[in-house]
Amino acid sequence: AYGKLTLYNQDIADKRNQTLRVLHALKESINNNFENFCLVFQPKVTSSYHALTGFEALIRWNHQDFPHIGPGFFIPMLEESGDIIQLGDWIFEQAIIKLKDFSRYDKDINMSINVSYLQLMDDKFVDFIKEKATLHQVNPYHIIIELTETSIAKNNELIVNKIQQLRQFGMRIAMDDFGTGYSSLSLLKNEPLDIIKIDQSFVRNITEDSFNYAFMNAIIDLCHQIDLKVIVEGVETKDELDVIEKFNPDYIQGYYTGKPMDYNHAICLLKKNIDN
Ligand code: C2E
Ligand code: CA
Ligand code: CA
Ligand code: CA
Repeated sequence: AYGKLTLYNQDIADKRNQTLRVLHALKESINNNFENFCLVFQPKVTSSYHALTGFEALIRWNHQDFPHIGPGFFIPMLEESGDIIQLGDWIFEQAIIKLKDFSRYDKDINMSINVSYLQLMDDKFVDFIKEKATLHQVNPYHIIIELTETSIAKNNELIVNKIQQLRQFGMRIAMDDFGTGYSSLSLLKNEPLDIIKIDQSFVRNITEDSFNYAFMNAIIDLCHQIDLKVIVEGVETKDELDVIEKFNPDYIQGYYTGKPMDYNHAICLLKKNIDN
């Protein structure tokens, strides 16, 4: 039993070392002018007609020593270390520079940008993004800030106040990962939101899972009755799409209608759209 315990402790120590190596490399990338970081863009399309309406910007870290580490892993690490503020500012500015480029091909195109709770809480955040939107001359209406349900649920006056400032400036707010937090439906009633993004866990097995089927149906109806737009994310197959579209969501995002792509591919898609 003693041998096992040592082994187990060794495991924990290895994991911890690995995590520290990753964090060190992340900080190095950030401090070297964000080298190895780039954004990819996933199309968001209208339901039924599948017209391109915008993209969601998603961060990637292409470090040769850590090829398999994605944002689902490193964003929480950077939130814990505090470095998300610096990286988040960079992501925001890059995303609106790309939005500006994209809008040359489609003047109505929008960009969803993920913003972490810590960024939102930062004193300089609201001024920073207003300043950048103005500097790069993008229409604020085409910027959609995605906040997770969990961060919105930390419903303190400060968060509501910041959301209101962003909306007054013209930006739209989407609640991300809806249905995964431990919050109640009163969020939909009390928060100043524009778009609800139903989490992809409710899409899985929707053809057989009667709970997911009923949830999707009910939430889309509820949102429409209170004037919220709905986007369903994580749609991977034609079967899932067919079921979901019966409920008339506003937008679809998922591998089936478009995978995250690099900047050049996004431009190609926009060009193809003009030709059609
Ligand atoms: P999220 O905001 O919920 O983003 C959606 C995730 O689902 C993305 O993973 C996307 O690639 C993936 N996805 C899209 N369609 C499908 C599908 O049909 N099937 C499946 N299985 N997955 C699909 P990704 O890019 O690995 O990002 C993971 C999470 O990391 C994001 O979840 C978000 O929470 C965070 N993240 C990514 N980029 C950023 C960023 O720029 N800033 C911040 N703060 N967080 C980010
Ligand atoms: Ca258009
Ligand atoms: Ca998101
Ligand atoms: Ca999500």
